[in-house]
Amino acid sequence: MKTVWSKILVMSVALTQVFGLNPLGAAATVALVVPERDPLDYRAARIRLAGHTEPGNQVFVNGKPVKVYPTGAFVDLCSLEVGANTIIIEASSTVGAASTSLRVHRLPPLQSTPGDVLAIEDALMLPEQDLDLLPGDLLEVRFKGTPGGQAFFSVGEAMERIRMTETPARSDGDLRGIYTGVHRLRPSDQLSRQPIRFHLEVPGLGEMEKSSQSLLSVQSLRWPRTGEVISPDAYLAAGLGDGRLGGALLGIVPLGTRLELTGRVGDLYRVQLSPVKSAWIAKEAIKPMPLGSPPPRSLVGSATLQGNHRRDTYMVPLEVRLPYTLEPMMEPPRLVLDLYGATSNLTWITQHLSAEMIQRVSWEQVEDGRLRFRFDLKEPPVWGYSASYEGDSNRLVVTVRRPPTLATPPASPLQGLTLALDAGHGGTNRGALGSLGTLEKEVNLHITKRLASLLQARGGKPILTRQADESLDNAQRVLDAIDADADFFVSIHANSVGLSVDAARSRGTSTYYRHEPFRALSLSLYRSLLQLGLAPYGNIGSFNAAVLKRPDIP
Ligand SMILES: [Zn+2]
Repeated sequence: MKTVWSKILVMSVALTQVFGLNPLGAAATVALVVPERDPLDYRAARIRLAGHTEPGNQVFVNGKPVKVYPTGAFVDLCSLEVGANTIIIEASSTVGAASTSLRVHRLPPLQSTPGDVLAIEDALMLPEQDLDLLPGDLLEVRFKGTPGGQAFFSVGEAMERIRMTETPARSDGDLRGIYTGVHRLRPSDQLSRQPIRFHLEVPGLGEMEKSSQSLLSVQSLRWPRTGEVISPDAYLAAGLGDGRLGGALLGIVPLGTRLELTGRVGDLYRVQLSPVKSAWIAKEAIKPMPLGSPPPRSLVGSATLQGNHRRDTYMVPLEVRLPYTLEPMMEPPRLVLDLYGATSNLTWITQHLSAEMIQRVSWEQVEDGRLRFRFDLKEPPVWGYSASYEGDSNRLVVTVRRPPTLATPPASPLQGLTLALDAGHGGTNRGALGSLGTLEKEVNLHITKRLASLLQARGGKPILTRQADESLDNAQRVLDAIDADADFFVSIHANSVGLSVDAARSRGTSTYYRHEPFRALSLSLYRSLLQLGLAPYGNIGSFNAAVLKRPDIP
């Protein structure tokens, strides 16, 4: 008997803790939604908390009251000590209370290596990734270790004891003991998959050596090599980039495009576009061709300009699929196409009177292996443009869309327009998480369906990239809209802030675009959103999201 009663007693204590039951039966509950992991390893000094309780309750984080919204959602930015932290979150109503907790282990900020300990640390070591470089490339290395020493690096047998320099600390807070070294690779520096060996000598402490995890190869006979694009949504990045959106978009490269590869950093190949211009592409997007395959080169002998009621096209037959960049200029409106690996042999350019948007085309051999076409366009608005290869052919087609004809009053200007609406995320891609546990993918779909019915009521033809909770490839969403010949593409999102950002201070609406000709549209949407009384967050340009990479559609 006694055991049963003690169990009931334990249970009632547990219930009181979780649900805040009190003698009158009223309850307060508290749920922490963000962060999702407990325990959590974390670096920053403050962490964002988000969760919910019953509307009207008070919430305390480690005893301090925090902001509770009318829905019962609460947010806080909680300070952390270095090491173990237990954060207690309590909710209380007039009659009940409940609590939950979160364990966060805050990793210590990077500190200078003590001057009395001989050490070469793994932190901040460069290179971080395996490198395939060529003579002429600059090798940059770095390590963090005991300050006040003399450092050298060696690689294989070719590079011996190259002097490194300790970066002078400019203020007390700066890290000390950061040693850097550079070496312009020479033709004799040939080696395969060797670590960088760092060597440090500190007076009074002795000397030590440590090798990098990453490996360096310099193999002149393995590069350049030709690779072929095997991914349908491959793109060239201007640099190595960092962060979730990758390097800045330089251009799209269609399937089957041949590229000259001249090295590798981690998971990216370096692409040599011209003697002085290189770019980067994901290794997984490329199938290297056998050594000795011809580099991507083509003579360009003819071109044809023509138009129809939807678009103008400029066709350039090539011998192989070459990489290119297509950049818009605003005033006067024009497009600049740079074809890499191309040499002009242009002796015949046919121009049909059916072209309307492209008013004039001129070409220039800018440098060896870079042929430039300049397209002078009719006044804005530019309603989408693109360059791609036609079918399975090597015929490059530059397309400039004509703006849709807008209905005149009293008809709605939306009459007859096809509007592609994309509810961001979906399926396994949940998107952001709200304080009430709401999923962004659901909010987006709800808003998108509502918008579709409003647009339809005004004569527009909305098409949705997804109607339900399904996983969709981001690049494919846009391709579907382009295939449907949509006049607009809008992707709808409900953003969240990072884990170290104060959610109570972050608010507002924002619009996004990637390509400059669509700035005016993005800005106009933004202004309209602000007129609804929403707080301003900004109109974001050069945004590298997958759904904005293609300039085919505004
Ligand atoms: Zn989103």
